[in-house]
Amino acid sequence: MVAIRFFNTLTRAVDTFEPIQRDQVRIYCCGPTVYNYQHIGNLRTYIFEDTLVRALRYAGHQVQHVMNITDVGHLVSDADDGEDKMLVAMRREGKTSEQIADFYTKIFFDDCGKLNIRRPDVVCKATEHIAEMIDMISQLEKRGFAYQAGGNVYFDVAKFSAYGELAKLDLSTLRSGARIEVDSQKRSPLDFALWFTKSKFEGQELQWDSPWGRGYPGWHIECSAMARRYLGDEFDIHCGGIDHIPVHHTNEIAQSQGATGRAPAKWWMHGAFLLEKNDGEDAKKMSKSAGAFLVLDRIIERGIEPLSYRLMCYSANYRSELAFSWSALEAADATFRKVRSTVETLRESGEPAEITTPRGRELLAQFESSVFDDLAMPRAIAVMHAVLGASDVEPTERLALLEKFDEILGLGVKQWRRVLTEIPAEVTALADERLAARRAKNWGESDRLRDEIAKRGFAVLDAKDAYTLKKASS
Ligand code: AMP
Ligand code: ZN
Repeated sequence: MVAIRFFNTLTRAVDTFEPIQRDQVRIYCCGPTVYNYQHIGNLRTYIFEDTLVRALRYAGHQVQHVMNITDVGHLVSDADDGEDKMLVAMRREGKTSEQIADFYTKIFFDDCGKLNIRRPDVVCKATEHIAEMIDMISQLEKRGFAYQAGGNVYFDVAKFSAYGELAKLDLSTLRSGARIEVDSQKRSPLDFALWFTKSKFEGQELQWDSPWGRGYPGWHIECSAMARRYLGDEFDIHCGGIDHIPVHHTNEIAQSQGATGRAPAKWWMHGAFLLEKNDGEDAKKMSKSAGAFLVLDRIIERGIEPLSYRLMCYSANYRSELAFSWSALEAADATFRKVRSTVETLRESGEPAEITTPRGRELLAQFESSVFDDLAMPRAIAVMHAVLGASDVEPTERLALLEKFDEILGLGVKQWRRVLTEIPAEVTALADERLAARRAKNWGESDRLRDEIAKRGFAVLDAKDAYTLKKASS
């Protein structure tokens, strides 16, 4: 197996990946805030993370994949401004926070299923880990990284000398350039809330008791607390979208390292944005705050296979922005269908064979070296197309290659087979009779026989002195 190389946001370099523990790769991915649908931009990030986990498993690693569900604490801004997103949704929909969270969590996992994104080994909800968060905040307080002011608890950024390294933040310009904070309790505008007791909002229903009074957590503490609970103080990879680098992940590192004295993750990997481009506008980040946004069901309603979107995501490296357009998606859909039908034809030659020929092995090596070169999926897809058209490789060996590739690609190759419809003899006899009637120009009889065939669930398509039968679409 070739060496695995990934880009690490922390070092801004592509390095060889080695797990901390020989027998397991531990990976934490920031999950959805379940106050609304996830748009296809969010889903791009989860496709990237699923592909990463699949690649690690393909390489023979045991993987422990943890993802959180944010059902409290994520304010409208990633900093400490605005209302909790869950409360906004409760008002919008007239439901309890639990109903909102359950509804959008279910839709999220349904969408993941349609995209062959495998469920992480651990899915953990913020509201079920308040005790772990309180524990970590207490530790931060003991170690001098937290202070109370105006009833809230804040992280004291000045005490953490490595603050902002992940994002390469220039703290001096940030401090002097910071706008006047709404929250005047903070010692520095860069400090961030760990626990709120003085709710800024009436009727805040999501509250818990704590050593600092009844209140609710800041957003960032949930990931530090849950990553620690399920993966320990040090783990291998932490993932998320690129927007998390300057605030959320920067604050996570400060909290985890402040509490444990150790950097939480060795590798930080970030997926770039899906952009949307409307007529006459520049491409911009797909976002929920922009109002209308595209969800997976809109794609399906247009008759496009959801997995065509997964294939489209492979047209760019995960670190490059990808511009969404319907024409690009329709092109991906046409390619997806062509690939599927080619695989169905290959399958008619027999079961997948062993990959033994030099050419077969060469193609496999090309695919693997692309994937393990920081998930170079456009190159991996080019190898897939080369296999589809490789007339110098037996169909059954090509099939074996494509099934193997699909362990990482997740397009569903193993399920692709042509469904042959058995046509009952009675229906064929009626069609033969009808052909005779047509030859005799007996159109009345021909129409009657067409109806008889239709009653049995089949449609007859006429050709010159011939016919084809197919199952009628209901
Ligand atoms: P959220 O539910 O808003 O917390 O976002 C879920 C995930 O999607 C996070 O990892 C975000 O960084 C990521 N994300 C948000 N917008 C986009 C986008 N336009 N393209 C790709 N990923 C995104
Ligand atoms: Zn997170």
